[in-house]
Amino acid sequence: MKFNILTLFPDMFPGPLGQSLSGRALENRLWSYKAVNLRDFGLGKHKTVDDTPFGGGAGMVIRADVVEAALLTITNTPSPTTNHRIYLSPRGTPLTQTKVKELATQPEITLLCGRYEGVDQRVLDAYEFEEISIGDYVLSGGEPAAMILMDACIRLLPGVLGNEETPLEESFSNGLLEYPHYTRPAQWTTHTGHILEIPNVLVSGNHQSVKDWRAAQSLALTRKIRPDLLR
Ligand code: SAM
Repeated sequence: MKFNILTLFPDMFPGPLGQSLSGRALENRLWSYKAVNLRDFGLGKHKTVDDTPFGGGAGMVIRADVVEAALLTITNTPSPTTNHRIYLSPRGTPLTQTKVKELATQPEITLLCGRYEGVDQRVLDAYEFEEISIGDYVLSGGEPAAMILMDACIRLLPGVLGNEETPLEESFSNGLLEYPHYTRPAQWTTHTGHILEIPNVLVSGNHQSVKDWRAAQSLALTRKIRPDLLR
C-alpha cells in the first residue's frame, strides 16, 4: 500500500510509523510513502502557500492552486478510480474500523494535511477529496491525523501482524469492545499490599467457559462505555 502525503511538514513522516510493527513493515516494503512538501509549490520569493479568507475572519487558508500543483506531481491525471484522495478534517466523517478495513484494501491513497484554518474548498471539490475526521476535537494540523489513519491501515495489511496478533477478536471487529486481558503473575501484590487475582475462569482449562466469559465481558463493557455501538 502506498500513501502520498501532501503536507507543510514532510519531515514529520514516517515519525512514529518508522518504529515497531509499522517500522518493520516499512523496511519489508509492505507499505511505502511519499511526503510531498506543499511549500515547494508556494508562490513568489517566500514560497507563500496561504492567504487570508474571503469574507474576512481569523487565520489563513491554504491556496487551491498550491494544493493542485502538489497533487499533479503524484499523478498527472488524478481521478477518483486511480487514486483515493482524503482530506483530514475535523468536519469529516469520523474514522471507524469499518472504514479503515475498506481503506486498507486500496493500493494507493493520497492524504492532504491541512494547517491554519484549513484548505480552499474549491480544490477539495474539484479533486473529490473525501473528508475524514479522527475525532471531535481540533488538532493544529492534519499530520497526526494522517499518521493515525495510516497506522490503523498498515496493521491490517497482509503480513504485518504476526500469527499471534490476530485482528479478528479485537475491539470493533465484531461491533463490540474487546474483553479485558490478564497475564502473569496470576496473583499480583501492589506496592500498597493489595492482592489482585485474575478471574478464575481463565485458568479453568475450559475453553468454552473462557469464550463465554469473554463474550459476556465484551458485551458488558460495550454497554457501560459505548452504548452507542449496541444501538
Ligand atoms: N478551521 C478548522 C475547523 O474549525 O474545522 C480547523 C483547522 S485545524 C486548526 C488545521 C488542520 O488540522 C485541518 O485543516 C485538518 O487538516 C487538521 N485537523 C484538525 N483536527 C482534525 C481532526 N479532528 N481530524 C482530522 N484532521 C484534523
